[in-house]
Amino acid sequence: MSRLERRTVFGAMAPIREEECTPDIFMVAGFGNTGLVITEEGVVIIDNTPMTSSRAVDIIRERTEVPIHTIIYTHGHGDHAFATAPFVADAKERGHPKPRIVAHELVPKRFDRYQKLSSYNRYINRIQAGRGYTRPKGDEQFMPADIVYPGITYSDAMQFKLGGLTFELYYYMGETDDGTWVWIPERKTAIVGDLMVGVCPNIGNPFKVQRYELEWAEGLEMVAGKNPDFLIPGHGRILKGKEIQEICLDTAKLLRYIHDEVVRLLNEGCWIEEILERVKIPEDLANKPWLAPVYGCPTYIIHGVHRRYTGWYNGNASEIFPAKSAKIAAEIVKISGADSLINHARKLQQEGEIQLALNVVDFAIKGTKDTTKRKAALLLKAELLDARAEAEVNTIASNIMLVGAEEAEQEANAL
Ligand SMILES: [Zn+2]
Repeated sequence: MSRLERRTVFGAMAPIREEECTPDIFMVAGFGNTGLVITEEGVVIIDNTPMTSSRAVDIIRERTEVPIHTIIYTHGHGDHAFATAPFVADAKERGHPKPRIVAHELVPKRFDRYQKLSSYNRYINRIQAGRGYTRPKGDEQFMPADIVYPGITYSDAMQFKLGGLTFELYYYMGETDDGTWVWIPERKTAIVGDLMVGVCPNIGNPFKVQRYELEWAEGLEMVAGKNPDFLIPGHGRILKGKEIQEICLDTAKLLRYIHDEVVRLLNEGCWIEEILERVKIPEDLANKPWLAPVYGCPTYIIHGVHRRYTGWYNGNASEIFPAKSAKIAAEIVKISGADSLINHARKLQQEGEIQLALNVVDFAIKGTKDTTKRKAALLLKAELLDARAEAEVNTIASNIMLVGAEEAEQEANAL
């Protein structure tokens, strides 16, 4: 299988499908999920996702003629808030009032930040989401031009009624600092965005700003406390009945467990490398399918908690102002020669020590200017990363490895 075929492309051609909670509340699923609530007075839409919103408009219009009244963003991520335009266009076409756009007060600040770091954000998302490797030129656009900023924002909680239903909006921090989850008490339905994604929460993402494990746990416990009959998550299928409690509370338990372990080990004087080694996830949580480490994973969560409470010093005084890694590697090459490093990496590869082989071959790549040897080392690195990606269950990590393999191969072929 080629490297291109092995990528996990997030949201690629996700088949658009519908799922129902009650006859008036349903979900349209694509890359992310869109919640649709139809009342006699208007439609409330929770989230929107690229390539899905036009179909969602058709689905609404197959069922009702009432205006789209309110669009809520559960947070400001692209798969939840960047595809509002088709709903606004529907209102315009029909001569309806423009829908209200409601979100937490930090969502506009997030959009501003995305504009400031547009090219960078597009770049890291392309790597994370398996969309291929191209170095940014500095002027790429991350947000589509037709993005709609919220017109109504709130800080802690907000409530409105429409067509006999109550919409309670609650602020929480978790994957972002601008999260909203929605509770409709008359239908015992929670529409929660990425507070629930059905797999291990993506805290401590390798590319992204700080995320909030304890508050995420609190949010999940609050949702469980409402005892919902239905839960529409940010991604994945609708959860129903008893499983909602189990999945929400297990996820909260994992987050609290990792948080407490990192804090305990910090207080024992451990530095990050030792913390990563010593935190062990209890069996009963590690094997739950809804905590599968395919998107977030415990290692990332440890990094996330660690970053929240500490600086970047790693405990080794040699590395507070280290020599450049290429200079260190050049010294290693002077001692042993690039060939012996490459041969040793090959030996480690044969012994199944792929990660160690990668770390060794990096010395040869960084430390030698000899074209033939560099090329051999780069091609070995590509081979090792391909093998590592093949065995890796975490999709973000395997996408990073495949991009790394592609880079190494391109560099080797350019020599
Ligand atoms: Zn999402």
